[in-house]
Amino acid sequence: LRSVNPIKKLNSEISVYVTKKQNEIEELKKMEQFRREFLADVSHELKTPIFAAQGFIHTLIDGAKEDPKTLDRFLNRAAKSIDGLDALVRDLVTLSQVEKGDLKMHFEQIDLKHITEEIFEQLETKAEKRGVNLKIKPKTLEKAFVKADKQRITQVLTNLVENAIKYGKDQGKIIVEIEEDKKHFHISVEDDGPGIPPEHLSRIFERFYRVDKSRSRDTGGTGLGLAIVKHILNAHNSKITVTSKIDKGTTFKFKLAKIIESSDEKLVDGE
Ligand code: ADP
Repeated sequence: LRSVNPIKKLNSEISVYVTKKQNEIEELKKMEQFRREFLADVSHELKTPIFAAQGFIHTLIDGAKEDPKTLDRFLNRAAKSIDGLDALVRDLVTLSQVEKGDLKMHFEQIDLKHITEEIFEQLETKAEKRGVNLKIKPKTLEKAFVKADKQRITQVLTNLVENAIKYGKDQGKIIVEIEEDKKHFHISVEDDGPGIPPEHLSRIFERFYRVDKSRSRDTGGTGLGLAIVKHILNAHNSKITVTSKIDKGTTFKFKLAKIIESSDEKLVDGE
């Protein structure tokens, strides 16, 4: 039997320890960098609507209010900026909760078909304004029971359908398709809009990433929607994927664990 050289053993232990500590330091540096960038992004995003509202209100105070048409126009623009600020703060709170894992999920039996119909009803006016047609497929689908958090999955689907309306084309068509296999329902939200250029595709789930900044702000976007969607689906053991073709359209897909129908309504775990 060969005895282990104690010096060699100690050396290798020290080297493992040093590598571990170096990795920890790298990790901390990355987190610090991330935190700094996030703070800079948030300050910038908050400043934009605040400056805009300030500008409109001060111009009115300085005399523009005397003209009733200007008064009306500037008040409406100031209100739009404040609404944007409100949406941003709400999304920031949700994002920070989902990222920290603080968001309590209430998993229950929900029917995806019913939820989609409710969302279509809610978004009807927005869709009509652009002449967009909303459809659920297949027509024969009756119920699609999954185990999920109703409020959060509603938020996910609302976001995807709303984006499809916002970034799709006038007189376009949006299809929510719900397909099933043994354990899951696969949901896709498809539009026939201008699509997303390939170089942007992998980045759209990052917070504050927008392909077209002015269009996103104009339509009330916070740039946080898809980041929130990704985290919510993550908490459901699911992943979102996107495919897009220029001038043909964009499709977002994810899956949710099914509820196997039996006498005791057993829940099937995701993944
Ligand atoms: P926003 O608040 O800007 O809508 P999101 O996180 O929801 O933020 O989306 C990020 C960006 O991805 C959008 O600004 C838009 O450029 C792009 N995008 C999202 N959905 C679509 C779509 N269906 N078609 C084309 N572009 C899209």
